Amino acid sequence: MHGYRGKALELLYRFNAYAGEHVIIELDSKRYEGIIMPRYESADDTHIVLKLKNGYNIGISIDRIKSIKSIEGKNQIKIAEVEREDRGLSKIAMISTGGTIASKIDYRTGGVRAMLTAKELYDAIPELGELADIYPEVLFSEYSENLTFRHWSMLAEKIYEKSKEGYKGIVVTHGTDTMHYTAAALSFAVSINKPIVLVGAQRSSDRPSSDAATNLIAATTFASKSDLNGVFVAMHDSISDDTIAIHLGTRVRKNHTSRRDAFKSIGIKPIAYVRNGEIIYNLRVETRREEYILPKFEDKVALLKYHPNMDARLIEYLSELGYKGLVLEGTGLGHVSKYLFNSIEDAIKKGMIICMTSQCIYGRVRMTVYETGRDLLRIGVLPLDDMLPEVALAKLSWALANKEDVKSVMLKNIAMEMSDRSLVD
Ligand code: GLU
Repeated sequence: MHGYRGKALELLYRFNAYAGEHVIIELDSKRYEGIIMPRYESADDTHIVLKLKNGYNIGISIDRIKSIKSIEGKNQIKIAEVEREDRGLSKIAMISTGGTIASKIDYRTGGVRAMLTAKELYDAIPELGELADIYPEVLFSEYSENLTFRHWSMLAEKIYEKSKEGYKGIVVTHGTDTMHYTAAALSFAVSINKPIVLVGAQRSSDRPSSDAATNLIAATTFASKSDLNGVFVAMHDSISDDTIAIHLGTRVRKNHTSRRDAFKSIGIKPIAYVRNGEIIYNLRVETRREEYILPKFEDKVALLKYHPNMDARLIEYLSELGYKGLVLEGTGLGHVSKYLFNSIEDAIKKGMIICMTSQCIYGRVRMTVYETGRDLLRIGVLPLDDMLPEVALAKLSWALANKEDVKSVMLKNIAMEMSDRSLVD
């Protein structure tokens, strides 16, 4: 019956209700009046979707439904133009930056466009309507591979501005390719006493296997219920839809090109999981910091992955171009070939800050073990412990643009970018 199946269909049969009918649905402490909406064939079987008088579609979990009563004069409900009303739910700012999440197919043009209004969001993902009062805003519509440091600055400023407007939390929808870079950048650029949750989707929202709805629901749950502050990434924990992991913005990485659980916390466990609408905390960490906004990023910063046979002139060229910072993704404990040493030393003498991370993904840089590491330390390369290379790039760019003593800032933990040994997974 109009897309309903499984448990949802059983419930409708039990109360003799059908899609298109004008009903009152009673929960324990609430009642909703509206029209039962049809569902997409691919939708879950645990929600009934109701179009309310104000025009919003909301999804009601079948476990909460006590009764469904038909109202006389079927289909007579007048659907008013949507007006925002205070429903006593947490206010969440949802900032859209692009990517496939929070976008929908425009049937007129055939293209994909961002969902611009709360109504569009609730229509596509009715469960959101029960969770929070969402105030969406499109900041830019870019695939995340097209984002630049300037976009990071604009986003940090927008988040800070929103944090002063009484929202409980902030959700940022983002393309997944560079979501972990943006999460790291924001972790340094903006500190507010509210959760900032980045969320993406590996499969576009028009595909039946899309993870957009589940990820967005979990991100909104965390943003509206958690009292942690800081920057987080909400994505599938495994390929099943049950559990969404909440990763710390400085300790997360995209590790798979297509799987829903592409994002993993590196070195530490996810901070929390969202399961059945509940937050299950995993790591009790203190994320509270003084509030600030430092949104600038230095453009002349690069991240270079060392590989056998690397040409030393790459580093010389960066120095000639006036690059102020370079993050090396070295091998193992933090090494590059001795044939690069002269170029590295010259670049440092000319003022470039050069930091070492490891391409191993897991573990810490330790440059005192082998001669190569010790030589690099002597030349002035900064060892960044277990900071992820992408995080180091964002931090170096941020530190160069906002801080005086860049070297000591790079070696100091600011947003848990270097994990405490006691938290190591
Ligand atoms: N390359 C796109 C992006 O990162 C992929 C779509 C997506 O992941 O949302 O924005």
